[in-house]
Amino acid sequence: MRVRFAPSPTGALHIGGARTALFNWLLARGQGGEMVLRIEDTDRERSTDANIAQILDALEWLGIDWDEGPLMQTSNEDRHRAVLAELEESGRAYRSHATGDDVRVWKDIHGADRGYRGEAEPDGALRLRVPDEGETVVADAVRGETVFAHKHLDDPVIARADGTPLYNLAVAVDDLDAEITHVVRGEDHLSNTPKQVLVLEALGAPLPIYAHLPLLHGPDGKKLSKRHGAASVQELRDSGYLAEAVVNYMALLGAGYDSEQEIFPVAELQQRFSLSRVSKSPAVFDEKKLRHINGLYLRELDEADLTSRLERFTGRTDLGPAVSISREKIQTLNDFEPLCGFIYDGVTEDPKAFSKVFGKAEAPAALKRAREVLAAVDDSFTEQLIETSLEPLPAEFDVGAGRIFQPIRVALSGTTISPGIFETLALLGKDESLLRIDRMLERLAAEPDGPSA
Ligand code: GLU
Repeated sequence: MRVRFAPSPTGALHIGGARTALFNWLLARGQGGEMVLRIEDTDRERSTDANIAQILDALEWLGIDWDEGPLMQTSNEDRHRAVLAELEESGRAYRSHATGDDVRVWKDIHGADRGYRGEAEPDGALRLRVPDEGETVVADAVRGETVFAHKHLDDPVIARADGTPLYNLAVAVDDLDAEITHVVRGEDHLSNTPKQVLVLEALGAPLPIYAHLPLLHGPDGKKLSKRHGAASVQELRDSGYLAEAVVNYMALLGAGYDSEQEIFPVAELQQRFSLSRVSKSPAVFDEKKLRHINGLYLRELDEADLTSRLERFTGRTDLGPAVSISREKIQTLNDFEPLCGFIYDGVTEDPKAFSKVFGKAEAPAALKRAREVLAAVDDSFTEQLIETSLEPLPAEFDVGAGRIFQPIRVALSGTTISPGIFETLALLGKDESLLRIDRMLERLAAEPDGPSA
């Protein structure tokens, strides 16, 4: 088995492309095959080195490796030209000056669903001759046999008038030269497949098995795009997802693993993956599900590993203690800073949180009382002692525990979001905690009528 991943470096690696890469890789790695990476850089204007670097970087981050390549499609151009000459010589291809308009006029005469057939002329672009009779049957491992009646297929243009080889010719020849046995790619390429098959047949070459993967949709049933959230691998990474969670979630997109199981280690994915599992209907990429799976992976990491990933992600150091009190509350690396930033950066006031929490009549008095009992806690200021000291307060004020803890939380962080309040107090330490509470009490004293907001 030889598979290939053949991205066009005209932009970042999108989630759909990454899923294609992953399915090829799972197939190769699970079945002892080889994977070729081919960069389809024939669109020279839009193919940039920066895009190539970004694609390679994204694959590396995902842990997808390859056995051959990266091969540049343009570096095989001499061979493409030789094949073009061969097809022209054998009469399988002909020169033609027909423009798009000529093709339309032809169809007006012969019928809109008739494939265009031109006359051989000197010079001009090169078109492959499609036989009038018969059909091209694509053996598709996902969709079953897919039949393309020749009478509907236009003679495809395979080279420009200046001899530049065109896409379908290049792909067919490159797959042939690389001895690709399985062409696994997105369903958006289905209409190219008969053209590539016809090129291979004209060359008397063996055909690979094709597998067209279902498109990815967003949860609203529309084609996956930017408006559904992160669209590229780079964006997923910047959003704080773990590569192993992304791989796990992507592997489930369109491949049914007949169970409720959500978490599959990569070795198990390799072993279980087969093209016969791939579904024909569009798969839904739901970032909420990815978040959920990411949270499960994140909780499985040992603390030192999670800490070093968070330190790399945030560019901060010494996050260990904050990680240990927040890890149950975060689903992505990106969730950490909004939850714990105040520990390092001090209070950033959220005016809404302030007015909501201190709009409650007892809140200033409750905070004052909390300050008293906390000041009386032994200097070791452990979580347990803190908890014991604050425990009687809800009853004393005849309110729920939240009405005592939220004022403390706003005093410490500026917001109503933080790790557990006892852990947070203990981590900040007695002096810093009392200092932040004092600042809030001063502020409240300056606004005796309650928050003006
Ligand atoms: N270069 C094409 C793309 O990026 C893929 C072509 C193929 O897999 O045959 O979509």
